[in-house]
Amino acid sequence: SRTLRIGLIPGDGIGHEVIPAGRRVLEAIASSFNLQFSFVDLPAGYKTFQQTSVALPDKTVETLKKECNGALFGAVSSPTTKVAGYSSPIVALRKKLDLYANVRPVKTTLSSKAPIDLVIVRENTEDLYVKEERTFEAPYGPGKVAEAIKRISERASFRIASMAGNIALQRQKIRETGVQSVHSKPLVTITHKSNVLSQTDGLFRETCRSALSDPKFQSVGVEEQIVDSMVYKLFRQPSSYDVIVAPNLYGDILSDGAAALVGSLGLVPSANVGDAFAIGEPCHGSAPDIMGKGIANPIATIRSTALMLEFMGHEEAAAKIHAAVDGNLDEGKLLTPDMGGKAGTEEVVEDVLRRL
Ligand code: NAD
Ligand code: MN
Repeated sequence: SRTLRIGLIPGDGIGHEVIPAGRRVLEAIASSFNLQFSFVDLPAGYKTFQQTSVALPDKTVETLKKECNGALFGAVSSPTTKVAGYSSPIVALRKKLDLYANVRPVKTTLSSKAPIDLVIVRENTEDLYVKEERTFEAPYGPGKVAEAIKRISERASFRIASMAGNIALQRQKIRETGVQSVHSKPLVTITHKSNVLSQTDGLFRETCRSALSDPKFQSVGVEEQIVDSMVYKLFRQPSSYDVIVAPNLYGDILSDGAAALVGSLGLVPSANVGDAFAIGEPCHGSAPDIMGKGIANPIATIRSTALMLEFMGHEEAAAKIHAAVDGNLDEGKLLTPDMGGKAGTEEVVEDVLRRL
């Protein structure tokens, strides 16, 4: 059997309560898929910064690069006021490992009244997030003007669209293992506003089209939608989306909005993905209000663990984890308080482990 080494970066707050759930799930499925896992704990976060004055130690990055096949990241706290020298370790990790895509599946169980099974693939390196802003006195009158660069490149658009296409194919492959879904065919929806921004969003749209016209995506349906009408349809008919590809800003907004469709932040996973590496990460933060109480919902982390496995090529193991989580949610007996239940983190984890 193959040994896969997984970096565990709990970070701050409830990160320390939910990351162990990911580890236990991996340990539980290993033998049925002829895998072995070994783990290495890696520091990062605000507490690490307070102790060592670095939020992301070089050693953490080096270990991930040299030793690890994948990683799980919990959450980090950010100081409420700006602290000199502190910057978010996950943002730095995305850069250092070239994790250019942020992948966020939004999924209910099939027995939900309106089942949803979509994934947002957000470009993570450019657009307005290049943070090239300037402020100057208006030449034509009183008051200041501020402006920001929106940068869209063919290279970044091409690789994010190719990733979206590959994810659409991968999801189809998972469905073909017998996993039921609201979709029967793969579909990628390109998000843009090229009716207004004909050059930037126009380039994004054209490049996505061209990337997805590759023969290997022959079976993938491609459609496009203007971002504002997309928000409307996403909330009215979320089941009509399979894979959504979006530039950075629209992707950010769509993915937080879409997370509201499933009920609790404690359920929504994500992955930071590049060509060579994937880090699973629950979408929630460090939740200082519930930290230390043993009631953090572990499901976002458990699904993020499955997502990491998908990007490592272990789709069936991932599907098994999702099915166990679906079983827990459908039965609805052991739920954490954010889901209206009374169970603690430990009870939910044990219920999921029993179902594996
Ligand atoms: P948060 O996600 O930590 O919490 C928002 C609300 O959701 C809280 O009421 C919390 O109790 C609840 N919640 C979140 N995760 C939960 C879970 N797994 N189970 C049950 N309930 C859960 O967001 P916030 O309160 O705005 O931020 C808290 C800290 O986390 C801040 O320092 C913020 O900067 C940081 N943060 C980090 C990330 C990240 O690391 N990716 C993301 C968001 C916020
Ligand atoms: Mn966001």
